[in-house]
Amino acid sequence: MNLHIGEIVKSQREFYRSNKSLSLEFRLTNLKKLKSLIVSNMNLFHKAIYDDFAKSSYENELTEIIPIIEEIDIAIKKLRKWVRPKRVGTNILNFPAKSYIVPEPLGVCLIIGAWNFPYNLSLTPLVGAIAAGNTAILKPSELSKQTSALMTMLINENFDSNYLHVIEGGVDETTELLKHKFDKIFFTGSPQVGKIINMAAAKNLTNITLELGGKNPVIVHKDASLKISVKRMLWAKFTNSGQLCIAPDYILVHKEVKDKFLDCVVEELKKAKYSFKNNNYVKIINDRNFQRLVNLIDENKVFYGGKTNKTQRYIEPTILNNIDIDDAIMQEEIFGPLLPVLAYENIDEAFALIKNIEKPLAAYLYSNNKGIKKRFLSEIPFGSGGINDSVMQISNPNLPFGGVGNSGIGSYHGRYSFNCFSHFKSVLDKPVYFESNLKYYGYNKKKISLIKKLF
Ligand code: NAD
Repeated sequence: MNLHIGEIVKSQREFYRSNKSLSLEFRLTNLKKLKSLIVSNMNLFHKAIYDDFAKSSYENELTEIIPIIEEIDIAIKKLRKWVRPKRVGTNILNFPAKSYIVPEPLGVCLIIGAWNFPYNLSLTPLVGAIAAGNTAILKPSELSKQTSALMTMLINENFDSNYLHVIEGGVDETTELLKHKFDKIFFTGSPQVGKIINMAAAKNLTNITLELGGKNPVIVHKDASLKISVKRMLWAKFTNSGQLCIAPDYILVHKEVKDKFLDCVVEELKKAKYSFKNNNYVKIINDRNFQRLVNLIDENKVFYGGKTNKTQRYIEPTILNNIDIDDAIMQEEIFGPLLPVLAYENIDEAFALIKNIEKPLAAYLYSNNKGIKKRFLSEIPFGSGGINDSVMQISNPNLPFGGVGNSGIGSYHGRYSFNCFSHFKSVLDKPVYFESNLKYYGYNKKKISLIKKLF
């Protein structure tokens, strides 16, 4: 195994140094090839995700395939523009030079994926790596076995291993991979493992992007339009059974509207009819996560739901009421279909509670009050967020997607994926027909005052 990984990294470095991955044509050809592999194997993509999650093909298209294809299409359409050097202004001191910024690939990349959206979280960064002209090794999560096996089969059979290659495995294989020098490590997963990746990358000063998680707050202020707000936030919470990094983690609702809010929640959950049978609900990924979630359900606080089935790894959409900040469910990222509800009396109290927890990957405010919106944006740190909506910010490729502090470093999607896998060289390009004497020896007061003016 060790030799295998080492050989692949070495061959990718050699291939990268051959400059073949740099040309625009090469990048476009491979983006198109990746797209055609996905489109022509759609049935296999649907089957593998069903085997891992019991996820319907509708939801697979909505949350995995369509966003990946959109990322590929944007890259194909915009790449010619992205790779072009960008002219910027030049200061007078450097007359008659011109200045520009030249994107260059980082080199040999390692992409480590998480299991909850196994295609999207592996292939979307891969699109960025290809578009920017790199080579890449992809290591999907070992927990989503069937989807991981499918990506391995399709990529390893259709691309040369010295350009793109998938290595399957868990902690051992990732630890082995991390012993090698990469030019970029793109990691999606938990903050705990993110720290391990960061330490390994530091040894070689490798450029990193860490897409991590956290506890994503939702504030429901007293003026919120409750019905539509609840509809939007519950879809965001229970899609993929809450196994979504930017799903609402906990609700902070204003005391005055809490009862009305809970009535709307019950009404909406009854209407949405989340179940495997209706193809709008999925299994918990494995027994360990199932048990972890079951342990977080305090039966005395269950307001709605609470049913579980170990054999099917099913947990009903569950609302927990009268939750206290010290309850177990408030001590970790939930990452499942449990939604704790806490009440607040004034907005300062809600803001203070959020700021007392590590910076979240996402935060959401439901309010139409301009002053509250302004304060939410300026006072609450978060990776990405929404006002009167949740999760949908991720579907806009014009918005960079990433965390801050404990929830991540860096961002991607659309143009930002290209940036994420590129270095931007700053270049000053000066013709030889003129040279000012100002900086050269022969220092005097007149010269320095002229330089000051030119600055
Ligand atoms: P994880 O950190 O357990 O695993 C992620 C990856 O790291 C996997 O490929 C795994 O094989 C590898 N890994 C696990 N332990 C390792 C170790 N000790 N050394 C080296 N590699 C190791 O995370 P997960 O359970 O797959 O995913 C859940 C977490 O990921 C949640 O915190 C969630 O919020 C976060 N997440 C973030 C995003 C995002 O885009 N920001 C998306 C999905 C999930």
